[in-house]
Amino acid sequence: MTFVIASPCIADYSCLEACPVEAIGPSPDSAEFLRAEQLYIDPARCIDCEACVEACPVGAIFPAASIPERWKSAIAINAAHYAEHRHV
Ligand code: SF4
Repeated sequence: MTFVIASPCIADYSCLEACPVEAIGPSPDSAEFLRAEQLYIDPARCIDCEACVEACPVGAIFPAASIPERWKSAIAINAAHYAEHRHV
């Protein structure tokens, strides 16, 4: 499984700081951060620890297996970000 960030994300990056395996990006010190509409979770790195869920101030992070229907597209959007920006 993986966790997924959905569109309520306000990119305040508290989740990124909470993640023990650097599975969330882009980092605020990268150029990509300024262009990103939200933050994303790398499904290949996420270890399902849930630390980011607690850290998120707007409740934008869900387990992929139980994400609300209206935000299901976020599963592909998060994965696609890392397909395009594997180095970020
Ligand atoms: S569930 Fe854990 S490993 Fe996965 S993105 Fe959130 S903090 Fe990182």
